[in-house]
Amino acid sequence: NLIATASNKPKAKYVFRKRLPFQCWTIADLSTALQRGQFVPYFQPKLDFLTRKPIGVEVLARWMHPDQGMISPSQFIPLMESAGLIDWLTVELLHNVLDCTKKWYSARPEISISFNASPLTLEKSAIPNQWLGIVKEHNVSPERIKIEITETALPKDYKSLLESATRLHMHGFGLSLDDFGTGYSSLQLLSQIPFSEIKIDQSFVAAARNNKRSVVILNAIVSLARNLDLQTVVEGIETESDAVFFQQLGFDLGQGYHLAQPMAGDDLMRWLSAQQSV
Ligand code: C2E
Ligand code: CA
Ligand code: CA
Ligand code: CA
Repeated sequence: NLIATASNKPKAKYVFRKRLPFQCWTIADLSTALQRGQFVPYFQPKLDFLTRKPIGVEVLARWMHPDQGMISPSQFIPLMESAGLIDWLTVELLHNVLDCTKKWYSARPEISISFNASPLTLEKSAIPNQWLGIVKEHNVSPERIKIEITETALPKDYKSLLESATRLHMHGFGLSLDDFGTGYSSLQLLSQIPFSEIKIDQSFVAAARNNKRSVVILNAIVSLARNLDLQTVVEGIETESDAVFFQQLGFDLGQGYHLAQPMAGDDLMRWLSAQQSV
């Protein structure tokens, strides 16, 4: 199984351009790029540690710049957020993803699709109904969709975010707490929002390798998650020993370069069918 995973890694069609020391595009560039459909979804599978089977994919935005190649989200998400373009990106991705996953979607009912949502988007009260409308338009059940909320980017007053999250949950969407353990309000958020999943930030993977105290914390996270009935995903699994280590601690799922790289839609489809025949 493992060997197959390694050999099925899609060949990189694009390599990320080197990060520039300054922001080299404007709001107008981003909005033109949105109009031209230059933002595309990449997909990174989440695997069950025990069976090594995919049970979900996370959508990660990529900008296919006509001159500069593939640009990573950390280089355009912050500007999109401050320019008010991030809601538009999410809507584009929803349509795009639900369209391109049609080919395998109904044949693989065990696989959920996760979207990253900016807290700035979630604060808007119209969002839950808008997303429900899009998902229904594509004949997809909201139960198959997870919304990842990052705790590090929370606004001071997050009452409207709580309302949107609760509404999304009522509509059937799954909620996931992203980058768990890096923010200030994890525990408070866990008690207030009906999450079904937490994603342990990749900084824990590096820390766990040489820090006994972090193992104590990881054990506490596993038992907290069990008692709250939360699925646990560990991000940044880069080696087989990371995978074994976190599986033995009792974590459910892993995501990371060792298990599967982020890949384009057609590569994902090939990857999924190769996995199935293993
Ligand atoms: P994230 O949600 O924490 O996503 C995980 C990031 O870790 C991704 O970076 C992924 O490519 C990377 N990664 C995956 N496996 C490994 C590994 O084994 N080791 C290491 N070191 N990294 C790994 P990416 O794609 O550059 O995305 C960066 C961030 O941009 C995401 O972090 C997310 O917060 C944000 N983002 C991406 N797409 C969207 C989007 O559509 N909307 C919003 N609002 N934010 C997005
Ligand atoms: Ca995420
Ligand atoms: Ca994360
Ligand atoms: Ca992150």
